[in-house]
Amino acid sequence: MKYVIIGGSAAGIAAAAEIRKQDNKGELTIISKDKFYYSRCQLHMVASGAASVDRVRLPHAGLEDIGIKFMAEKTVLGLDTAAKTVSLDDEQILAYDRLLIATGTKTFFPPLEGVSGPWTFGLRNLDDALAINEARKTAKNFTIIGAGLVGVELAAELVKTGVNVNLIELAKHPLPIQLDQECGDKCSKLLADAGVKLYFGNPAKVLHRRPEDSKPVALELTSEERIDTDVLICAAGVIANTDFARRAGIDARKGIIIDDRCLTNMPDVFAAGDVAEHIDTVNGLCQLTAVWPTAVRQGKIAGINMAGGTASIKINTGMKTAISVMGTHFISLGQICASKPQWCKHIFRNTDSRGDESIRVLYTDGKVLKSALLWGNVTDAGLYHEAIVTRRDISGDYLFLEGLDAAKRGKETMSIL
Ligand SMILES: Cc1cc2nc3c(=O)[nH]c(=O)nc-3n(C[C@H](O)[C@H](O)[C@H](O)COP(=O)(O)OP(=O)(O)OC[C@H]3O[C@@H](n4cnc5c(N)ncnc54)[C@H](O)[C@@H]3O)c2cc1C
Repeated sequence: MKYVIIGGSAAGIAAAAEIRKQDNKGELTIISKDKFYYSRCQLHMVASGAASVDRVRLPHAGLEDIGIKFMAEKTVLGLDTAAKTVSLDDEQILAYDRLLIATGTKTFFPPLEGVSGPWTFGLRNLDDALAINEARKTAKNFTIIGAGLVGVELAAELVKTGVNVNLIELAKHPLPIQLDQECGDKCSKLLADAGVKLYFGNPAKVLHRRPEDSKPVALELTSEERIDTDVLICAAGVIANTDFARRAGIDARKGIIIDDRCLTNMPDVFAAGDVAEHIDTVNGLCQLTAVWPTAVRQGKIAGINMAGGTASIKINTGMKTAISVMGTHFISLGQICASKPQWCKHIFRNTDSRGDESIRVLYTDGKVLKSALLWGNVTDAGLYHEAIVTRRDISGDYLFLEGLDAAKRGKETMSIL
């Protein structure tokens, strides 16, 4: 059996390890644009110079030792599902019996006048992170479009290095998917106190560049305010890498559509990770779930099924975000931004002996926990996550909402809205 995996990251590597557990004889090849396997989750640290390339490099789990061929720095350009082959940028053609597409996503660059050109980056790959770090040697003013997870983490890291950091966001507060207004304002304060300049609810309009060498000079906002900008970083979303798959007739909307076994509409062609679109367990919508643990889970399921086993997706969600901003930890579970007015909002507040405030916001529909936001003290996050994804009935279990670890939190005040 010949297995080919396109993409050597969370989903691809998890699939390869699983295939090898089930089938120790098949020929197994991973093709990856990347030089090696690394953690994308820490790229903001590389961009700021806080982490070396070696620190984000991940062990291959001894892939070569278990007979897996890793073809690094190769790009798949074409797929022929009738001939069961993939074609590479170096003109090699590889045959497969079972194929996994685990190509992840690329940066979405907003359609903004002046956006394409030098000194404009995304933060998706190691090369992006190294380019931003290199830019720090000469540039002073860094402007980030998008205050989602990537934008906020990058802003918090870059500002520590002494450069000027501007953060632009369409919404009124950072992390609009994960935080409510109150915690969003707290997050804004943490960033602003650290020196990040915030421009919220004021979309970017034009990136002005110097005519002589195209270097950016200023980003103009819709309000016509101009922000000095030497480097523009776009962190306003991603696009799934589906190009060659679509051309080969694989069904895709925002991502490649997969069933519970991670199979696409084509026989023997599987997809997993950020590139794949599947029903989210929490909100019931078919969508991309661009988080690392889900990519690993889908990769494992695809690997088992590719090797002839049986596994299916039970829990699929990208709606768990754990983040630390300037030393304050918070976790958002479910979809805070999609909370409905008819849901019941429980708020627990506590201030510890050092004066640090923690807040827990829990939304229920009276029966089921829909989302949870833990600010400052993230105890019991696992418990709430389990309740959200399994949608179990928690009505009548008020102690559950209070949290099993209430003793660790001390005295809280509670309100129900
Ligand atoms: C800055 C940053 C911070 C993040 N922080 C977090 C976090 O805190 N928590 C969390 O859960 N998630 C986080 N994520 C998201 C997480 O990194 C992704 O969900 C995860 O990497 C998805 O894994 P994947 O294998 O599906 O795709 P990717 O990791 O995107 O890997 C895709 C692979 O496919 C290869 N590839 C693409 N096209 C081709 C082609 N045509 N030919 C050959 N190879 C190809 C790429 O080189 C790469 O190896 C973060 C992401 C970024 C960028």
